[in-house]
Amino acid sequence: QAAMVKICCIGSGYVGGPSMAVIALKCPAIEVAVVDVSRPRIDAWNSDRLPVLEPGLDAVVRACRGRNLSFSADVDRHVADADIVFVSVNTPTKARGLGAGRAADLAYWESAARVVAAASRSGKNKIVVEKSAVPVRTAEAMERMLLAHSGGGGATFQVLSNPEFFSEGTAVRDLLCPDRVLIGGRDTDAGRSAVRALRDVYAHWVPEDRIVTTSLCSAELSKLAANALLAQRVSSVNAISALCEATGADVSDVARAVGWDDRVGDGFLNAGVGFGGSSFQKDVLRLAYACECNGLPEAADYWRQVVAVNEYQKSRFVRRVVSSMFSTVAGKKVAVLGFAFKKGVGDTRESPAVDVCRGLLGDRAHVSVYDPAVSEKQIRRDTASPAAAKAQAHQQVLVARDAYEAAEGAHGLCVLTDWDEFRTLDYRRIFDGMQRPAFVFDGRGVVDVGKVREIGFVVYSVGKPLDPWLKGLPAVA
Ligand code: NAD
Repeated sequence: QAAMVKICCIGSGYVGGPSMAVIALKCPAIEVAVVDVSRPRIDAWNSDRLPVLEPGLDAVVRACRGRNLSFSADVDRHVADADIVFVSVNTPTKARGLGAGRAADLAYWESAARVVAAASRSGKNKIVVEKSAVPVRTAEAMERMLLAHSGGGGATFQVLSNPEFFSEGTAVRDLLCPDRVLIGGRDTDAGRSAVRALRDVYAHWVPEDRIVTTSLCSAELSKLAANALLAQRVSSVNAISALCEATGADVSDVARAVGWDDRVGDGFLNAGVGFGGSSFQKDVLRLAYACECNGLPEAADYWRQVVAVNEYQKSRFVRRVVSSMFSTVAGKKVAVLGFAFKKGVGDTRESPAVDVCRGLLGDRAHVSVYDPAVSEKQIRRDTASPAAAKAQAHQQVLVARDAYEAAEGAHGLCVLTDWDEFRTLDYRRIFDGMQRPAFVFDGRGVVDVGKVREIGFVVYSVGKPLDPWLKGLPAVA
């Protein structure tokens, strides 16, 4: 075992918190300090209400906190003390300036890099591990910045890339039992020995053959490529779903038939209202931007189309709702079941439900939202319109305590998150409380179409043969 004793992680968010907690759990001989500039976040990590909700996370933190896991706002001290520094800060998309809407905003990343550079004065050699999803060749930029600071007998640095692949909602399970751990590093003596040191950390619980090593830049690109390929599968099956509706084919049958081919595989082929979450769109656009910056416009266009199909799928859904309900939803109550971007999480970042609600509100519908994990405050924040229209928007959005309350008196009901509880609702009871005709618009394939149609609903389910009622209605564009 290498003589690694201290790990520090800069950034205590969705990634830094859970990933370090699992390292601490599995490596009792290693001291892990997670640091953050956000005092409230650190206080929350030290409290009984952790800032990140993940099944199993409380137990892991409880087992290690105060033993070999600590959370602190004293960034400089812990970075200076550490042998391995993980950088797990946020890398949002730039809102303005060059590459706005596509490129990564590296301001947080740079401020973290400068803290590491300043720690070279401590004289302690360090391995710096990039965990954030960053543009390709960011590790090289990190090496340059560190080199610029380490002249004059300071410490030396080795930079590694170790992107995180867990899924939100199953973070702890994925971290305990990863498909693979990817480590990118330099092919030099110092680089190889740094890779070995990090490999030794993971080898405490991850089988050796699941720890994959590559060059720095391959590891960085792999993270973007993994998310882009997952998003691309969703957009591919969603593009097929539109054709299914036009022709009378059933997208679940098509997906199942295609997925039997093990060159294709059956995962991630559920048609629906589109993908969401903080990473997919961001990483696809980032990949496209990298292509563009490297003089590859055709490749950039290809990836951009994955996002374009996702936008199409969301607006197509809204058009379907409006055209089905006689081309007007003004003043009508529409129940929205599910607001999070997927089941099991309270996260609404880039959730398709946000866009669908905004589309319906734009057509002056009243939406009544229920989600088991998203707070009323969050729902209001995400559906808020510009200040001028605020008062009116407030009246247009209701937040319900359960699905039945949301649907009471509604003309239509949209299912926008795949929560299991929506599969087993008493749709008869919901039907009895709704206006006639009563519509169900299933954006997640969770409703048993035959059953609810029998109750009397007019049903639209993405990619399924259309209800006779919906055929030949005037289209809205
Ligand atoms: P986050 O916003 O939840 O957390 C980042 C934290 O870093 C914040 O608490 C912030 O205060 C802190 N921070 C920023 N600058 C700092 C500085 N200079 N010093 C100390 N602390 C600083 O972000 P996240 O969701 O954990 O994502 C982190 C990275 O991991 C991103 O690049 C993201 O793309 C990537 N990623 C995220 C997920 C996910 O599921 N959320 C999965 C894989 C990879």
